[in-house]
Amino acid sequence: MKYLDLRSDTVTAPSEEMRDAMRNAIVGDDVLGDDPTVKVLEKMGAELFGKEDCLLTVSGTMSNQIAVLSLTSRGDQIIVHDMAHIYNLELAGLALISGVQPRVLKAIGGKYNLEELKENIITKQIQTSPTTLICMENTFNLNQGLVVGKDHIDEVCKIAHSHGIPVYMDGARILNAASSLNMEVDELCENIDVVSLCLSKGLGCPIGSLLAGPKEVVAKARRMRQMLGGGWRQAGVIAAAGIVGLENWKEVIAADHKKAQVLANGLADLGLKINQVQTNIINIGLEDLNITASDFCNRLLELGVKAKEIGPYNVRMICHKDIELQDLDRVLDSCKKLINVYEVKQH
Ligand SMILES: *Cc1c(COP(=O)(O)O)cnc(C)c1O
Repeated sequence: MKYLDLRSDTVTAPSEEMRDAMRNAIVGDDVLGDDPTVKVLEKMGAELFGKEDCLLTVSGTMSNQIAVLSLTSRGDQIIVHDMAHIYNLELAGLALISGVQPRVLKAIGGKYNLEELKENIITKQIQTSPTTLICMENTFNLNQGLVVGKDHIDEVCKIAHSHGIPVYMDGARILNAASSLNMEVDELCENIDVVSLCLSKGLGCPIGSLLAGPKEVVAKARRMRQMLGGGWRQAGVIAAAGIVGLENWKEVIAADHKKAQVLANGLADLGLKINQVQTNIINIGLEDLNITASDFCNRLLELGVKAKEIGPYNVRMICHKDIELQDLDRVLDSCKKLINVYEVKQH
């Protein structure tokens, strides 16, 4: 049976075009600054974000940790959202790698309460450690895929910059945000100081993330990447995939969003509770049907569909390039069968 895997957009495989590009990539030793294909991708990344420079790293997690390491000193405080990847899903790297203290604020839809944000910017006094970085995430978060608009980003940046503090954007899915807003990425990120992007999600690259920002920050990030063992030699093989991914990202991501809308509507028609779908992520609530998430996912798996359990009664489905529009019928049929069996059983 061919499984339809909707657990994440990270399950996407490199296309034939991407594999050809990887096979044919001109390479050199990137640690020595000799890989021309890496240079092309990093230039593309800098232009995409409208920043001075850009660095290819191994993963979104590595970009996040390198960004914090490059923008802070040990013992500093940084402001993060309570549901952010950088705070929850990176093995306490903030504490272990950068040695910073996170000040955790509530995030509704990835937005800070601006008054609360201001109150939590701490200045350096005899008893206090200064706030030296504010982190954001867009789309927010990996189980919701909500878009944080430019207005809110700009307000956060304005507050941060008035205190001389930079803003880092975990933009693992920033292309989804830009696509949903129908906005260019550089415009969306205009006031953000440093921003990252995952190549290995919707774009279908096997590995890689881009980290963009001012020249001197990226230069420091390059050294920090080296320290963490992320200096790589003939990385042009990886960069070649990134170049192909970025060439037609708008079409690919827009198609993913369309599929998510179709799937979400179909699931809602089956009586399932669906979150507000703004990008490619669907969050299904099963509490009303009294089906546990693990039961739902296990039964769905037997029918050839993979979904991700994200809470006792919540399941995530993510649309991506390796799921075709016509595959969604099979997903919906499987959900329908599952719900019917469940309802019969309960009577
Ligand atoms: C996926 C993701 C990351 C981490 O990326 P990896 O490449 O898996 O390390 C970081 N932040 C967010 C918001 C993500 O969705």
